[in-house]
Amino acid sequence: MIKKIIYFLPLLLSLSACSPKSTDSSVYEIATWKGFADAAINFTFDDGCPYQFTRALPMFDKYDFQATFYLIPDWVQAESKPLIQSALNTGHEVGSHTISHPGLSQLDDDLLHAELQSSQNKLQEMFSFDRCLTLAYPYCIPAKDGITSEYYIAARDCRGVIEKKTPDSYYHISSIGCGNLSDMNTLPAFQQKFIEAASVNGWCALLFHGLDDDGSHSPITSELLGEILLYLHNNNDRFWVSSLQNTTLYSKERDAAVLTEKEVERNLITLSLTDDLDDGTYNHPLTIRRSLPQKWNGVQVTQNDNVVSSDILEIEGKKYIVFDVIPDGGEIVLKRV
Ligand SMILES: [Zn+2]
Repeated sequence: MIKKIIYFLPLLLSLSACSPKSTDSSVYEIATWKGFADAAINFTFDDGCPYQFTRALPMFDKYDFQATFYLIPDWVQAESKPLIQSALNTGHEVGSHTISHPGLSQLDDDLLHAELQSSQNKLQEMFSFDRCLTLAYPYCIPAKDGITSEYYIAARDCRGVIEKKTPDSYYHISSIGCGNLSDMNTLPAFQQKFIEAASVNGWCALLFHGLDDDGSHSPITSELLGEILLYLHNNNDRFWVSSLQNTTLYSKERDAAVLTEKEVERNLITLSLTDDLDDGTYNHPLTIRRSLPQKWNGVQVTQNDNVVSSDILEIEGKKYIVFDVIPDGGEIVLKRV
């Protein structure tokens, strides 16, 4: 009898609660947009009109929304420079709008290279930031994609439609012209566009120039812009307001990401999130959720031993761990607390 028990001892030990359980990567879902929002919304401002920094920028900061400013280096006014630098420091985007604002399709390849490369270099010299990553085509006239892609991860045109969550081409991201020379000049018009974007999990990039009486093209009033941002703030579970750069990073990373559950123990789950993109550029966090394991009431999520933002949320009667992690940013550990 004793012999029999000794014989079965290794088997009994291996069935104890401490042993690893089987892994299942299918219980995870990568959000289409950050925070499981229904749509991504970009506010892009062209030409560096001064009121964009003195009047619009503080309205975005009030709600911690990020905007994109497409600048022509030589057009930037001296008094705007410190405001633009502090905008960059708080996560807003500065993108290129070329050197001389030409119709890019008219240029030979040498001139095209010069417009795209010099504007990027000049902006990176004027301001302290990692890299100028996206371009807005002057007059909405696209360049040659092959040349644009040597310098930028994405470029904005103006087809006036909601873009797909994965654009057909990142060098033709559609934007919708706004202001008093367009239909996009009332709060209901914007609300309708946002709801349309949400219904297809789409990407709504808006294009602005002037503000109030600054004398620029197709201005919008500060009052209306404030109402639009308040609406988005009040619906921030549905709409992710960020820069065109961040939306591009998120979109490409989401589509390239591979999530693998590597190890499951009673109080600890280990994951990896990888992609084949350049980690120097593609380091925006993706939002992920996983059903809350049985008997877990609290959770701490770390990546590369650093605590990341996480939450336990109940969605349609089911509890999930929701967390933000960076592809190729190191091992991810979900710990029961
Ligand atoms: Zn322009």
